[in-house]
Amino acid sequence: MPVTAYHRDTCRLCDSPKVERVVSLAPIPLSENYCADAQTGRDAERFPVDVYMCADCGHVMQLDVVDAGSLWDSYTYFSADAKGMPEHFRKVASDIRSRYQPAAGSLVIDIGSNDGSLLRPFLEAGHAVLGIDPAREIARAATEAGIETIPALMSLELAQRIRAERGPAQVVCMFNAFAHADNMGEIADGIRTLLAPDGVFVFEAQYLLDILDGVLIATIFHEHMSHHSVKPLVRFLDRHGLELIDIERVPIQHGSIVGAVQLKGAGRPVRDSVGALLALEASRGADRIDTMKAFGARVAQLKERTSALARSWKEQGLAVAGYGAARSGPTLISQLGLTGTIDFIVDDHPQKVNRYSSGDGILILPTAELCRRMPAYTVILAWVHSAKIIESNREYLERGGRFVVLCPETRIVGKDGDVQV
Ligand SMILES: [Zn+2]
Repeated sequence: MPVTAYHRDTCRLCDSPKVERVVSLAPIPLSENYCADAQTGRDAERFPVDVYMCADCGHVMQLDVVDAGSLWDSYTYFSADAKGMPEHFRKVASDIRSRYQPAAGSLVIDIGSNDGSLLRPFLEAGHAVLGIDPAREIARAATEAGIETIPALMSLELAQRIRAERGPAQVVCMFNAFAHADNMGEIADGIRTLLAPDGVFVFEAQYLLDILDGVLIATIFHEHMSHHSVKPLVRFLDRHGLELIDIERVPIQHGSIVGAVQLKGAGRPVRDSVGALLALEASRGADRIDTMKAFGARVAQLKERTSALARSWKEQGLAVAGYGAARSGPTLISQLGLTGTIDFIVDDHPQKVNRYSSGDGILILPTAELCRRMPAYTVILAWVHSAKIIESNREYLERGGRFVVLCPETRIVGKDGDVQV
């Protein structure tokens, strides 16, 4: 299926045309693609991922949108495969139930429900549950496993149909997808349509301040269309008849926010957490163009340092591996000047081994190859798991191998810890 993309020229949250490019990045291929041969991988079409900011509301976003069908139709990432996610979702479900006390047996809906990991604890507690997810295979598997899942993208029309057929929802969640949609206005209207008068909408998204602090460049790819902060969200929700009543920072994905939202005027008080994060954002200048441009400058410095290292490895004729055929891999390789540097990637995922990454066309081998081939340097592409990867590959380090951690600063790790080069 040919991929289509378009460039929008207005803010995703407030529709203002005053959007400015604040971080210029290299175009990258779609992330989750593994090819049968190297040439197909190298020929993969690239799409822009430059970062923009709205001068009116301060929202930070991608404006180059790859059409949703191409992104999600054949998506294969299962939440339950990700370490710690089922436990995280159990805790989230338990927190929502104790804090908002949805009526026994009432309807709980998850938008972007993936394999149903978040809905399962609600189902076990006696709630009616409904998932919505455009990845057809994942939706089918979830339905077969007892979590009814509509294989579709969220839309106002779908929300109206669900409301008519099943009545209002006490809880609507959007944990995997709140940063993934271009039509945020329609989604907000859909949520307002679904919610019972005393219902609550709970979302999770990566947090802009954590992206800035950690230089989390690896999270900037096509699926992540929005990099949310609280101030633009409050205004956006208000415009759509919704009200943010609680916001909490959580360590998921190196720094996310979990927000709770009610119909405007529904009666729950707004918790102090909202004002506290608004004040923090103001003190950090999170809504200012120059703050984002400074972030862009840090990314450029990081790229300079990493590409200088890569050049010196090549001059010395050293072998270099990548660790983890992660979704963030093509992003890190392109944005940090590592194109043409990595000889092979190690990863044990059965759908990836012996295939080639899109972008560089790098062969993916099982992790056992690391100690067999002993590359001098191994760049960690699955950045979220850096500490665990270093810890579980002692033999490679003991034998003289070195890991390269890319963010927030370039670090080289040998058997005795950080190495100065
Ligand atoms: Zn805006």
